[in-house]
Parts: sequence; structure tokens; C-alpha cells
Amino acid sequence: MALISVTNCNKIEDYKQAVQHAGGEVRIVQHGLDVRDALKGADGLLLTGGDDLAPSRYGEPAHPTVVEVAPERDEFEIALVAEARRQGMPIFAICRGIQVLNVACGGTLVQDIPSQVGTSLNHALKVPPHTSFEYAHEIWLENDSLLSKLLQERLNGSDSVSVNSRHHQAVKELAPGFRVVATAPDGIIEAIEDPAMPFCLGVQWHPENFWRTGEFRPLFEGFLEAAARTSASR
Ligand code: MN
Repeated sequence: MALISVTNCNKIEDYKQAVQHAGGEVRIVQHGLDVRDALKGADGLLLTGGDDLAPSRYGEPAHPTVVEVAPERDEFEIALVAEARRQGMPIFAICRGIQVLNVACGGTLVQDIPSQVGTSLNHALKVPPHTSFEYAHEIWLENDSLLSKLLQERLNGSDSVSVNSRHHQAVKELAPGFRVVATAPDGIIEAIEDPAMPFCLGVQWHPENFWRTGEFRPLFEGFLEAAARTSASR
């Protein structure tokens, strides 16, 4: 069974359930731990959701809407990404996770979608926890991507799916070597991947909220398969 190091966050339960329902084992890791110890014996790294990264991490002054920066968490997770990539370890990055992944690899972020992009789509849907799987908008997928391959059955010939959405930031300048593999109809980047790695995928929505019904279980299953496979060869 693949062991996944999962970064701690305020809503950890759904991430745990999603990994476990796809057949993986979870180890929660957080700042204070040595980065190599946090990944020791693990087969994959799952980056979870949370508050904003400090914009200084990508060389920008903070927009007034940037909230609750936690420098220790930023530091720890950026170092985790570097170490996991150095080891060739599969990475699955969700919400804040896609932002950490992009910044750790040299990209930048839109600091506040409503005031900096101007869109009629609501990406920051306010929903109570028990309806966290409520759909907010659709995304358009690149059809030759790892993401669309994993969602093939669900897509059933189409190139769009509906997703939930609880973010006010997004990927702006893409990290070198990465590609955008899903966008919202307003152009906001919703998923990125690094084709040079065995599995390095970031998504801006919350697939873990669907663990009960399984709409996005193939993402976790594909991640765990890659983790088991690359672990055997590492
Ligand atoms: Mn969105």
C-alpha cells in the first residue's frame, strides 16, 4: 500500500478519507519536522489547502486581500516540493497546494481574482462544510494531459467537467517546464502538470470533498499507482 505524506491543514479529514478510499495510507506532516524526515519512507506527497502564500515568495508586495500568511508553513511546503522533486517522488497538489507547487518551481500567483482579473464567475463559493462538494463552474481540459487521461471515464468524450471552487488566488505566470491542463471559462488556470515528472499534478478545486461519491477518485487512484510504481524504482 502506498504511503502518502500529507501536509497538515484545518480541513484534513476529507484529504485523509480521499487517500484512504483510493487505497493509500496517510502520514500527516507539518512544519517543525525536518523535510527529509517528513518524506522518509513515503511514496508520494499530497499538498493540501489553506491560506495564502506570502507574496514575497514570488517577489511581489502583498495585495490588501492577502490573509493569514504562515511563514513556517510556506517555508516547509516549498522545501517539501523541492525535496520530493529531487527524489522523483509523485506530487499531487490541491488548492493552496497548486499555488505552493507553482511558486516553489518558479511561478507567480494572481493575488486576488475578483479585484485583479475581473470575472463574472464566482471562484470563492461560500458553502457550509456539508455542501463542500457543490459545483461552482466548469473547467476545460487539455485532451492529451495526464489529468484528462485520469478523468477519461467521467469525461466520456467531452472535454469539460464541473468542479467546486473555494479560492481567491490562482496561478499567474506558470513555472518553467509546466503546462496548463485545465482552465475555467474565464481563463483562470485550474490545473497544471509537469510532463517531465512521473506524476506532478496541481488542481485548483477540491477533489477530496467528493470522497463519498467518488467523482474524482481516479485522480487519487492514479496518484497512488504512480506512487507505488516510482517507489519500487527509486
Ligand atoms: Mn475555480
